[in-house]
Amino acid sequence: MKRSNSSRLFSIAKKVMPGGVNSPVRAFNAVGGDPIFIQKAKGACITDVDGNDFIDYVGSWGPLIAGHAHPNIVSAITRQAQLGTSYGATTELEIELAEKVVQAVPSLDVVRMVNSGTEAVMSALRLARGITGRDKIVKFEGCYHGHGDSLLVKAGSGLLSLGTPDCPGIVSSLAEKTLNLPYNNIEKVRELFDAQGKDIAALIVEPIAGNMGVILPQPGFLKALREVTQKAGALLIFDEVITGFRVSLGGAQKIYGVTPDITCMGKIIGGGLPVGAYGGSRAVMDHISPVGSVYQAGTLSGNPLAMAAGNEMIDLLSQTGVYESLEQKSEKLCEGLKNNVASLGISAQFTRVGSMFSMFFTDQKIADYDSVKTCDTNFFSKYFNGLLEEGVYIAPSQFEAGFMSTVHTDEEISLTIEASRKALAAALG
Ligand SMILES: *Cc1c(COP(=O)(O)O)cnc(C)c1O
Repeated sequence: MKRSNSSRLFSIAKKVMPGGVNSPVRAFNAVGGDPIFIQKAKGACITDVDGNDFIDYVGSWGPLIAGHAHPNIVSAITRQAQLGTSYGATTELEIELAEKVVQAVPSLDVVRMVNSGTEAVMSALRLARGITGRDKIVKFEGCYHGHGDSLLVKAGSGLLSLGTPDCPGIVSSLAEKTLNLPYNNIEKVRELFDAQGKDIAALIVEPIAGNMGVILPQPGFLKALREVTQKAGALLIFDEVITGFRVSLGGAQKIYGVTPDITCMGKIIGGGLPVGAYGGSRAVMDHISPVGSVYQAGTLSGNPLAMAAGNEMIDLLSQTGVYESLEQKSEKLCEGLKNNVASLGISAQFTRVGSMFSMFFTDQKIADYDSVKTCDTNFFSKYFNGLLEEGVYIAPSQFEAGFMSTVHTDEEISLTIEASRKALAAALG
């Protein structure tokens, strides 16, 4: 496979951009080799600057559930661009999208648009702290909630010990306010809330973990989180930046029947443009300015191009049969991958909810961050690079989800299964 144009661009990019990228995981550090530079994409196919085509399961890390350059979304953006790209004043497009989102997501009466998932989460934490007058936040190891200071925090040495910064530049007195627990471990949650519940503003969780690969919540886990937080007077925040509009139109909360106080969204809601959002009941959201005193603002928030794209995306996903079809395609792919692995005698674990899925190279059952850390990342790197050679593009890390889109064809899925078999066999050496 020719990669000389990508490599040339990467060496230039490194001169003017930190590490040659605008987001670290794009640098392929986890899998080795230079990243591919993208020329264009259409449907499920992405084309690099060397003219190589790949069947894409990254989907821009989740947003592109309707594939690349969907004609409805492209024309909505084009139409709006001719009317102006930003006004810094309110438009009817914002109402339309808010109405659709509030209608779809069970826990929402009111929603505020921002520009990224990170911003949604940061704002949700401030809101929870503002409402409760408490400082502490509880999160789970391996969940990712964007790069806000309160979230880039790792566990201290003991269960009840203070969090410490997970990267330089984070104020340690802030990091101390974030407490980390293992995902899916409700006993530890209870223990922590028994000891410190009255100081905890919020517990934030990915209701289906998607940032350490896909990990399903164990039966009863989310319901228990709801009970424990309620009892302590703390808010429950679902970070549905990946799962929102991905696992169902109403997100994970619709599937599991658990109602959070605040929901964070992003990715799909922007139809491929930069959008985040957070919402909840009117009583909760009325604490935000200008009604309430918790301040949060944005020059480009509710941007008309992004709202046009988001509206079109939600319309596409509201058509009948969309999620059933995503389920069938994803099942077909994952069954194929399972058969490959079995026939080659490779130990791997599979997780999937609808169109988000992972294949973990380990013999351990997957339940939390400790279990995913047992994966053979060396084998993954070989597999990733082999897949690329075979024309399939997945996220360049073992600890990421794969995403199916509505426009992947049966043929593309069959080709992927065959490519995967070859890449697995090659990785075995
Ligand atoms: C991607 C992601 C974020 C951060 O969103 P950005 O738009 O990258 O800032 C937050 N939470 C979850 C669960 C995510 O997957």
